[in-house]
Amino acid sequence: MLDLDIQEPAVFGGIGSVSTKNIFEKDGKLFIGEAAGLQDMLWGFGMRYAIVSGYLAAQSIIGNKSFTRLAQRRFGLKLKAGVVNRFVWEMLSRSSYSLTLGIMKREKDPFRSLYSFHNFNLLQKLVYPLALRYVRNHYPKLSV
Ligand SMILES: Cc1cc2nc3c(=O)[nH]c(=O)nc-3n(C[C@H](O)[C@H](O)[C@H](O)COP(=O)(O)OP(=O)(O)OC[C@H]3O[C@@H](n4cnc5c(N)ncnc54)[C@H](O)[C@@H]3O)c2cc1C
Repeated sequence: MLDLDIQEPAVFGGIGSVSTKNIFEKDGKLFIGEAAGLQDMLWGFGMRYAIVSGYLAAQSIIGNKSFTRLAQRRFGLKLKAGVVNRFVWEMLSRSSYSLTLGIMKREKDPFRSLYSFHNFNLLQKLVYPLALRYVRNHYPKLSV
């Protein structure tokens, strides 16, 4: 709306920065949030992951620990679970959303299954190779 005098504009953003081959450190620099490819492939959680990875990066500096190791431990399995969840979501139709919510509603502790499906459970481990092939074919620009 305003005629700003932008000097040397540079493209720096994009969409869907999601990865499972995350680069957390390069040339002595730490990468957090979307710059490290941290987003859940189904649910997003981009803000949460950005804040948590920023915290871990700070902890790694304060405690002289490997940020890559801290970040992998925190996000590695969750990101893989996201790949499977995305695959399952796209295999079932959108109408299955209410079905899923219905099943959750009947559960005594819905947080338990939500936690399980966010942390690469056994079922997800079995489906992963198939999900990976699907995601690589359908989202060739993602580094998964
Ligand atoms: C439309 C939309 C809706 C979304 N909804 C949700 C949601 O509901 N919930 C959720 O959790 N997430 C959501 N997200 C995703 C979430 O916003 C991002 O994943 C999150 O903000 C990533 O944080 P970040 O710090 O990694 O990157 P960013 O928030 O992108 O921050 C990077 C910053 O670095 C600056 N920058 C880049 N290059 C340079 C440079 N060379 N020099 C100086 N500064 C630079 C940019 O200007 C920017 O301010 C949404 C995203 C979009 C686009």
